Amino acid sequence: MKLINYLIIQIIPFLPKIFVRLVASPYIAGITDDEMLKNVNKLNKKGYKVAIDILGEHVTTKEEATQITERYAKLYSKIDLQNLDANLSIKLTHIGQDLGYNFVKKNLMILIDEAKKYNNFLRLDMENSPYTSETINLYKKAFEIYPNVGIVLQAYMHRSIDDLENLASHMFNVRICKGIYIENEDIAYRDYEKIRENYIDLVKKALRKGSYVGIASHDEYLIDKLYLWIKENQIEANQYEFQILHGVPMDKKLQQLINEGNTVRVYVPYGDNWYDYSIRRLKENPKMAGYIIKNIFNKILNR
Ligand SMILES: Cc1cc2nc3c(=O)[nH]c(=O)nc-3n(C[C@H](O)[C@H](O)[C@H](O)COP(=O)(O)OP(=O)(O)OC[C@H]3O[C@@H](n4cnc5c(N)ncnc54)[C@H](O)[C@@H]3O)c2cc1C
Repeated sequence: MKLINYLIIQIIPFLPKIFVRLVASPYIAGITDDEMLKNVNKLNKKGYKVAIDILGEHVTTKEEATQITERYAKLYSKIDLQNLDANLSIKLTHIGQDLGYNFVKKNLMILIDEAKKYNNFLRLDMENSPYTSETINLYKKAFEIYPNVGIVLQAYMHRSIDDLENLASHMFNVRICKGIYIENEDIAYRDYEKIRENYIDLVKKALRKGSYVGIASHDEYLIDKLYLWIKENQIEANQYEFQILHGVPMDKKLQQLINEGNTVRVYVPYGDNWYDYSIRRLKENPKMAGYIIKNIFNKILNR
């Protein structure tokens, strides 16, 4: 089965986009705002909070960066109007980080003003290492204007423990993830167990310092280990949340966490740039492609 899944993943980039859309559909919450908002509503009804992300990164023109900023800004009023339990999670390169510091800062401040207006939250995703220091710098600028803003630290980065030390306070809101980009071993851990170890250290350290922590992982070993520690140390449920990507099949585990009084937030990506994201996600979990294709064939055979 492993070989079949592997072969499917190799073939997928050469197949028509419509096919990729079908196979990747669980990961994507739609293309339009309306499709995405419908999905957010459904997730809220199942007890999940949501972080919305418009797919895309590294825009190359100011026009595009401005358009994306405006689209994000409008989402705060749509969330408010529909009374949804959702915030936004953005990539700074999507709103113009490659086009100059002052330009991206201006766009970030537009979003911070909107978040403030609607009493909502904004998180800055963490991209690859050339952007880390500037992302932290911009996070600090945003925090000065409106503290309801958060950032991400990646457990594979050597520097994250020092970044946490410098940033952590009871006002700090951090998502901890393993890290998705390919980084040089001079600056990042490669060993799976070492990354897990650092992940655990980061979460514990942040919680001990009174920060709010988004535990963003599908690694059930990590989730179970940290949840046990949280209970043993009587960490209040309003100091952390579990976060997962839309479409990752973990419903049973997540519903159990919700039933036990925990917050679970689903990261909901959507938009026109669904193709590259889908290919990335399917490569991460070839089982998913195999499983969906099996379902499609079953449906055809049972007609
Ligand atoms: C909410 C959220 C936000 C994130 N934000 C960022 C960010 O800002 N910057 C950044 O660098 N990275 C981000 N990531 C990605 C993260 O860094 C990891 O690359 C990714 O989550 C895989 O690591 P894992 O902790 O799930 O563990 P892994 O060891 O990779 O996976 C654990 C298990 O989950 C399964 N799994 C993992 N991913 C998927 C998937 N997509 N579909 C199906 N099964 C899967 C694996 O097959 C494995 O069985 C984010 C992840 C999440 C969940």
